[in-house]
Amino acid sequence: MLGFTRRSISSNLLRAVTRNSHTLAFLETSGSTLTPASLSALTAAKEIKKPITALLVGPNAKDAASSVAEFEGIEKVLIQTDKRYEHYLPEQITPLVVSLLQDSSKDISSFIIPASAVGKSVLPRSAAILDIQPLSDIIKVVDPSTFVRPTYAGNALLTVKSTDKIIMTSVRGSAFPPADEKSASPAPIEEIAAVDTDCKTVFISEQLMKSDKPDLSSAKIVVSGGRALKDKATFDSLLNPLAEKLGAAIGASRAAVDDGYCDNSLQVGQTGKIIAPDLYIAIGISGAIQHLAGMKDSKVIVAINKDEEAPIFKIADVGLVGDIYSIIPELTEKL
Ligand SMILES: Cc1cc2nc3c(=O)[nH]c(=O)nc-3n(C[C@H](O)[C@H](O)[C@H](O)COP(=O)(O)OP(=O)(O)OC[C@H]3O[C@@H](n4cnc5c(N)ncnc54)[C@H](O)[C@@H]3O)c2cc1C
Repeated sequence: MLGFTRRSISSNLLRAVTRNSHTLAFLETSGSTLTPASLSALTAAKEIKKPITALLVGPNAKDAASSVAEFEGIEKVLIQTDKRYEHYLPEQITPLVVSLLQDSSKDISSFIIPASAVGKSVLPRSAAILDIQPLSDIIKVVDPSTFVRPTYAGNALLTVKSTDKIIMTSVRGSAFPPADEKSASPAPIEEIAAVDTDCKTVFISEQLMKSDKPDLSSAKIVVSGGRALKDKATFDSLLNPLAEKLGAAIGASRAAVDDGYCDNSLQVGQTGKIIAPDLYIAIGISGAIQHLAGMKDSKVIVAINKDEEAPIFKIADVGLVGDIYSIIPELTEKL
């Protein structure tokens, strides 16, 4: 465990965090509900122990607002429903976030956002404009200004204290359980003004991977395949039946993705998704450090590999040494 105290670049920005100051939590919606990563960010926001102002944007914000207002710890829900926010373009969201953080009447001393693709784009942009050092991908709240975050692909943990006037963090979803406690009296909902920008970025289209399987980021069980699966047809024919029996999401190593066995949205690891399901089954995956960075916090890890020296066995709770081409069909059959 490493530890250091960060000093703010410009000391005139320093100010003591006031007792009544708020946390602004930027939460993403999918339809009229919060995304799993946003529910985890809300849990982290509660641990900061300041009243929470939730911010929802886009045309779905209105539908989601009334259910978000019921979560414990939320004191107010701000919504901005303009179409310009529909696709979460960071070039549009950043000016809105910055304007709220600069608004002294809102008295915001903490900002929190999921470490999702949106959070990874909005946090550094907003922090740079405000000359604040953001703390990304936190996995633990020690106190309102001190957080734990992983570094070196999760091989070391930093305990970081911020002295900035606004403490800006993004939250690793797999490190916090989803918020579920509701309050007896829902928070008020306030529509705020959009912020005009000279944004030159225009949304054109998106191609979403549609799947009838559980979402990899939030699935309780993940069946993950590596290079040993040989090709796409083998990957699908071996993993799909097992995943269906278990109601599991499918994941993959980068080698499997690079060799075209599956879509890159299934990649688990340092440069893929970071997940912590209840059960992770690694099939024909060696356990390179970059893969472990994405799954080592899984509650139970099962590894199946023909090489008993494979590094994946060092972190596996259950290890099966053998050929996946006989073990997986047998396991699927027995299930
Ligand atoms: C900057 C950087 C970022 C990276 N990010 C990621 C990342 O996000 N995610 C990621 O996964 N990797 C990442 N990598 C790549 C990583 O280093 C490894 O190359 C990759 O994880 C290896 O994938 P693999 O385990 O499927 O393949 P291999 O390492 O080739 O392992 C295949 C395994 O299958 C076993 N096997 C083969 N045949 C059978 C069989 N019939 N039965 C049973 N077992 C069998 C072998 O014994 C072997 O252990 C990154 C690398 C770099 C440099």
